[in-house]
Amino acid sequence: MQLQLFASSLPDTEGEYNDLEPDLILALQKEQFELFYQPRVDIRTGTIIGAEALIRWRHPERGLIAPGEFIELAERTGLIVPIGYWVIYRAGMDMQAIKRAQLDIGRIGVNLSFRQFEDRYLSRTIQRLIEKYRIDTSVLEFELTESALFSNEAHVRQGIEELNQLGITFSLDDFGTGYSSFTLLQKLPINSLKIDRSFTSGVIEQQDDREIVKAIINLSRSLNIEVIAEGVETRLQHDFLIEHGCYQAQGFLYSRPMPFQDFLTCCKTASFPRLTKSRPAANPSPYR
Ligand code: C2E
Ligand code: MG
Ligand code: MG
Repeated sequence: MQLQLFASSLPDTEGEYNDLEPDLILALQKEQFELFYQPRVDIRTGTIIGAEALIRWRHPERGLIAPGEFIELAERTGLIVPIGYWVIYRAGMDMQAIKRAQLDIGRIGVNLSFRQFEDRYLSRTIQRLIEKYRIDTSVLEFELTESALFSNEAHVRQGIEELNQLGITFSLDDFGTGYSSFTLLQKLPINSLKIDRSFTSGVIEQQDDREIVKAIINLSRSLNIEVIAEGVETRLQHDFLIEHGCYQAQGFLYSRPMPFQDFLTCCKTASFPRLTKSRPAANPSPYR
């Protein structure tokens, strides 16, 4: 009895996950997923120069569930594969709506899980999606984590090359948290590095974080690839980035992720719900 009591008071992560698993299977069929969009901003001018698509699950009983609560389960169960295709399809449809509204807002980042490469039909299926739904690959950017990219698995690299041949570019998400190889960074079709939020949030108070962020900015400069700071929340972080030559960012300071219709309105009116406008740029942005 006592043992049972002990066991039931343990935080049961597996149990929690299993709890959501049957619902997750149905969620796709019942169209319970949504994509929110967080603008990517040229922080010198306050212009939207892209966005990241971030999945949400509108659960009938639990309300809006953040990806942190179900992506890992989706990865473990393999459901990330069909969910990942849905995300690409949905982002493609939204990109068409942006085009129909005659807006040019730059690239849309879509997160791609390392697990999705376990589907050997990945690039073929994505190619079919692109053709069927006329997805504009020139504005599609897949966000991969370093662990995905630098896993020694040849099929991941081959998949990346094949997707790149379809016109899709790549960015390295959560950069600085994994292991990267300088040579591979040069060889692979990487368009940008996204500085992980854990470093951005420390630039004012933590010497280590400050040095890491400066090093990543310098690395991107020598490799001639773009650099984007994730998770900018304060004006001081924003000023630090400008001072050190990182002109693209995402973060709550500019805007939180929002439903697509709100994002579209935001692009049309060129206004952010919470944007702190910076001074106009002295030089035109190299990224536009
Ligand atoms: P990520 O790709 O690194 O996305 C950035 C996360 O940071 C998002 O959380 C975003 O809402 C949050 N964020 C942005 N700015 C700020 C800020 O200023 N402060 C703070 N505290 N947070 C900020 P979200 O939407 O909960 O997504 C978490 C992670 O889930 C993503 O991290 C990504 O790894 C994963 N994810 C999201 N959507 C997808 C998807 O469609 N497919 C896959 N495979 N993974 C996804
Ligand atoms: Mg991302
Ligand atoms: Mg990230």
